[in-house]
Amino acid sequence: MTHPSATRTARLRDLLEGLRLDGVLVTDPVDVRYLSGFRGDDATLVVGRSASLLCTDSRFWEQVREEVREVELSRVTSEPLLEHSAHEVRRVLGSGARLGYQGAQLSHASYRTLRRVHDGPLRDVGRAVTRLRVVKDEAELALLRRAAAVTDEALGRVVAGGLVGRSERDVAWDLRAEYHRLGAEGEAFAAIVAAGDHAAQAHALPGERVIRAGELVVIDTGARVEGYCSDITRTYAAGEPSDELRRIHELVLKAQLAGLAAVRAGAHGRTDVDAAARAVIAAAGHGDDFGHGTGHGVGLEVHEAPSLGRARGDRLEAGMVCTVEPGVYIPGVAGVRIEDTVLVTADGCERLTVSPKELQVVG
Ligand code: ZN
Ligand code: ZN
Repeated sequence: MTHPSATRTARLRDLLEGLRLDGVLVTDPVDVRYLSGFRGDDATLVVGRSASLLCTDSRFWEQVREEVREVELSRVTSEPLLEHSAHEVRRVLGSGARLGYQGAQLSHASYRTLRRVHDGPLRDVGRAVTRLRVVKDEAELALLRRAAAVTDEALGRVVAGGLVGRSERDVAWDLRAEYHRLGAEGEAFAAIVAAGDHAAQAHALPGERVIRAGELVVIDTGARVEGYCSDITRTYAAGEPSDELRRIHELVLKAQLAGLAAVRAGAHGRTDVDAAARAVIAAAGHGDDFGHGTGHGVGLEVHEAPSLGRARGDRLEAGMVCTVEPGVYIPGVAGVRIEDTVLVTADGCERLTVSPKELQVVG
């Protein structure tokens, strides 16, 4: 079986052809990994119509031999990485080559180096290169499923241990420990554990605050497995909640189900999915309490394309993996968010995270 990196590089070459470029200098480490298989964080990839080379220094030469196939190693020795890469571009692609680069991934100083060394036209194609990752292949889906399964399992175990009387930080730490025990690399992102009025901040940092009976607790977390991320949010009741809190949870669940029901190949992230979830919350008079977008893509990065926001959205395609995560945040009172990671299919979606969503009352 050919390594997926060969197919991926072939798709990048098709892109080069379409953009009438002679080559591309890939500097985003996530794209370097996707296209070559190399997991180190300090390398560039030069891809021409026929040649592919990975530029990195001696710290990684052994690792390159283990992880990378069908790509030539270009040894960085005396020059800085970017300068070396720019010289390699000129050597491999020839003088005057039309070169794509990744603008969002390059500092201004690096761009100036590239401009100084490279004598052909430059074009920012960073977004197009990154978008090669938006539809997942089978190898990626297997890892995304594993990451989601580990996340569900870890979350279930931690919550089963109870929440009342524990600090937010302590709960967050336990999630990390469970990911480790379950064989994940670690967290896909720093977990959010926020109780009571603290959860009214959508991205609250877990603190020393102790979870009290009667509070809602938002837990937003995900494991990382072989680079691939998962992302789930559940809101739990620590002890019996008030009717008002139950009502808010019910509303967010209804909105999340409406968002999920709108996901399918061909649907639009903004006008279909975000709109469906937002309409439910707005109809209940809480439109102003839902300040963030409804979802985002998940893959090697926990936030990537496609986008499913109220300001920006992408058309969904089968094989994309994204979240649906509406929330309601009432300052001084509480926050509720419910999130799943799902796989977009031809006629709907398949949930990868499957933890129960009905309000669970835990001690
Ligand atoms: Zn999340
Ligand atoms: Zn998310």
